[in-house]
Amino acid sequence: AHQGSNAPPEWVAHQGSNPPPEWVAHQGTCLSPPAYRTDEGQPWVLPVVKKVEKLIVADNRLNHEYLPILGLPEFRSSASKIALGEDSPAIQENRVGAVQCLGGTGALKMGAEFLRRWYNGNDNMKTPVYVSAPTWENHNSVFANAGFEDVRPYKYWDAEKRGLDLAGFLGDLETAPKHSIFVLHACAHNPTGTDPTHMEWTQVAEVMKRRKLFVFFDSAYQGFASGCLDKDAWAVRYFVTQGFEMFCAQSFSKNFGLYNERVGNLTIVARDADNVRRVLSQMEKIVRVTWSNPPSQGARLVAITLNTAELFAEWKDNVKTMADRVLLMRASLQAKLQALGTPGTWDHITQQIGMFSFTGLNPKQVEYMIKERSIYLMASGRINMCGLTTKNIDYVAKSIHETVVN
Ligand code: PLP
Repeated sequence: AHQGSNAPPEWVAHQGSNPPPEWVAHQGTCLSPPAYRTDEGQPWVLPVVKKVEKLIVADNRLNHEYLPILGLPEFRSSASKIALGEDSPAIQENRVGAVQCLGGTGALKMGAEFLRRWYNGNDNMKTPVYVSAPTWENHNSVFANAGFEDVRPYKYWDAEKRGLDLAGFLGDLETAPKHSIFVLHACAHNPTGTDPTHMEWTQVAEVMKRRKLFVFFDSAYQGFASGCLDKDAWAVRYFVTQGFEMFCAQSFSKNFGLYNERVGNLTIVARDADNVRRVLSQMEKIVRVTWSNPPSQGARLVAITLNTAELFAEWKDNVKTMADRVLLMRASLQAKLQALGTPGTWDHITQQIGMFSFTGLNPKQVEYMIKERSIYLMASGRINMCGLTTKNIDYVAKSIHETVVN
């Protein structure tokens, strides 16, 4: 597929009727890897994670006894602090609780199961759950599987302007039945890479409060949007200042690179301490019949990191390394397309944030990329910026140029 004059030289060198098997596996450029990749295209174990793993192995006091049903207490509290901020008024008022969950997916599942059973009464099968259009596809299934019969999209992405459809979003908030549940991406929206600005978030919050809509944040990429944990938690913290009761599903899969350890936390912000106790007692029952009690390794690792000043600083540095690589690839792709004179505007590449980008390539252009250039990306035009490296970016930019010009 790469026999053209534009194929990267190292690929041309490997042409032949009997290419080695490892080469066959590497043919093509994958622009939608499922996780963070280094500039060498490899998974990255964060240096701080390696360090803490050694501390855990060396600690003779640790064992493999069951954790409490709700999880490791020091993990739950430190994870919630990362989302809400050290000085969160809700934490100071003892109206925050948390459940250690199996990844961000587990946290969404726990929140969904609780809401279906207990939100505003015992039977919420008919309560609408709104997810953004488009969204991470599992949102639909997680809520549907928890028994919600009415999972609907809310307007979010304006394909024409390649940005947020604020008027549509606000319109759907205005017309949603009171008490509907809205799943909001806390930052680095997947798949569009487009977040509301602070001003836009304040508008969203105003309508949600007035119309008594339930806020369910999904925070899977804290640190990835800006490289700064506090900045990426702005929306969640702002909603707390506005007095919302809410859930926030946190994933540590991406920002700790702990994908297979299943580290997640469901942060609950309630009206008062008594309500937190009640919610947690019901969630304890749900955990008992779901995973009974959570795994310890990843949660221990995260808790030690968050609760030790030097390790915490090192982790923030590691997160910034990942975020900066993504930012560099964005800037570089945009500059290369501009230099090539590729028709259209490509500013959205740098305006979007986080791992994902909606390139704006249409299905036909995507097909060209796949069939003619062996560059693999989603039919929607979504790419994971981590699929780009300093070695393949020229080839990718040239291929995008070609597909657009053709
Ligand atoms: N939410 C969003 C928006 C995601 O993109 C993902 C993972 O891709 C998750 C939740 C789930 O994360 P986890 O792997 O921790 O379950």
